[in-house]
Amino acid sequence: MSKKILLHACCAPCLLFPFRSLVESGYEPVVYFYNPNIMPYREFRKRLSSVKEYCGSHVIPMILDEQYSLERMLRLYLDRGNSPRCLVCYKERLHKTAALAVEKGFDAFTTTLSVSPYQNHNLIREAGENASRAFNVPFLYQDWTSGFKIAHEEAKRENLYLQSYCGCIFSEEERYRPSVRKRMNK
Ligand code: SF4
Repeated sequence: MSKKILLHACCAPCLLFPFRSLVESGYEPVVYFYNPNIMPYREFRKRLSSVKEYCGSHVIPMILDEQYSLERMLRLYLDRGNSPRCLVCYKERLHKTAALAVEKGFDAFTTTLSVSPYQNHNLIREAGENASRAFNVPFLYQDWTSGFKIAHEEAKRENLYLQSYCGCIFSEEERYRPSVRKRMNK
């Protein structure tokens, strides 16, 4: 019997490879969009719409969480103390995913974040395992980076929206002002 898994999706291009890989491994994935870290709001709407359109046109089951609180996310980032910024961000998204997985009776949860070679995989794992313990539901960590380039070529062919920075306003600055990268405590 296949296992129901809640697949947190950060954006449409990053969804392609993990979704396929899960199906091929015998899982029944349901896509979950929860990314209040994306700034500014118009960028959030673009990525949300892209996931919605892709899942709609490929008949992929999805749950879209449109919660957005800029002030709350900025506070989380600015009040994080010594925690790395991305860890706080991963935890926010994966705790919400784990909670929903339990509420809806999924067997496990995972995230498309781990398809990207630009993300910090140790921190993704830490955040996922932390959420798994907190909500008592298994977290599946998969290194899907081997599919990143292929999936992004496919995303271009499908005319999916391709973002140019990770999500938060800090990552936008890092993208366009490379000298900042060295200073930031990610
Ligand atoms: S760069 Fe910003 S949006 Fe991306 S994972 Fe880190 S904190 Fe989150």
